[in-house]
Amino acid sequence: MSAIQLKCKICGAPIDITPEDAVYNCNSCGQAFTADGKTFENHYFFPNILNKDKIHEIISKFIKKNSFLRGIKDYSIKSIMPILLPFWIVKTQANTHFLGYLKYSETRTRRTSSGSIKSESVTVYKPIEEDINEERTDIILARRATTIFGYKKVKKLIEENMQNMVHFDIDLLKDKEQEFQYLSTEFSDIDANQLIKTKIFDEHRARAEKKCTKVFDCYTQISFLGTFFTHFPVWEVEYDFKGETYRVAINGNTGEIIKGEIPVTKLFRIVNFSISILLIVGGVLINFFYGKSAGFVPWVTGGIVTFTLFFTVNNTFKPMSVVD
Ligand SMILES: [Zn+2]
Repeated sequence: MSAIQLKCKICGAPIDITPEDAVYNCNSCGQAFTADGKTFENHYFFPNILNKDKIHEIISKFIKKNSFLRGIKDYSIKSIMPILLPFWIVKTQANTHFLGYLKYSETRTRRTSSGSIKSESVTVYKPIEEDINEERTDIILARRATTIFGYKKVKKLIEENMQNMVHFDIDLLKDKEQEFQYLSTEFSDIDANQLIKTKIFDEHRARAEKKCTKVFDCYTQISFLGTFFTHFPVWEVEYDFKGETYRVAINGNTGEIIKGEIPVTKLFRIVNFSISILLIVGGVLINFFYGKSAGFVPWVTGGIVTFTLFFTVNNTFKPMSVVD
């Protein structure tokens, strides 16, 4: 879609937007605006503690930690890109009342007129009437899709570090050398509420269906307690090793690795392949000497060998390892 250029009402910097943007931000001062151009103050974020120097340190540590038996030296960092991922956090009180029945069979015994005891299977229809009441917090990416490396884990990071979320403040974001890129926001707060509403309806319905053979009636009522727009800082790093590019995503709020790729080098392949061969030979030898005397030995060694072989063979043939 073609971009439209606007001027920021707060700082005057140019802003490029597309017709898909439900909320947009000024790259220069960070101010959020709704699609109709009004300033939007319900804007939170997770402060960024990183800069380029720290990224270099983190990558060096990451490679050192994961390069055991791989012999990775002489890598070079190709690009460092700090990105802000937009999320909606929706707090609700959700109440569901459902009616249905549970069908099961039961064996019952009765005394016949002749005095003997007879047991028979009967079908029971047990009425179910229950409530689900919960206060919940749902988080969704404010976009239809994204290809940002490692983004799938960010929702969980937000959930686990909610106490770090503060009202947006550009001073807690800016790295002197590099500006953050705001990933465009395609869902408005209304879209987010609607999506979450559907999600809760489906979830509660599924919970009711789990408890009943048939649900007659399932009624859900949702009160919205607050919808917050938040940005999460992710540093996307690409490094080069022997002509191949590997990616690492770093949590800008804590400096932890979200997800990272590590090369599988020739050395690593040789090591893993040798381990595989040793395992097979070792397993065969153990079984040859001890297998006859104790019945469980072949099973135990067989199990250990197969389990370890799975990893070593896997390590031998895959192009790279992913750490997360
Ligand atoms: Zn601005």
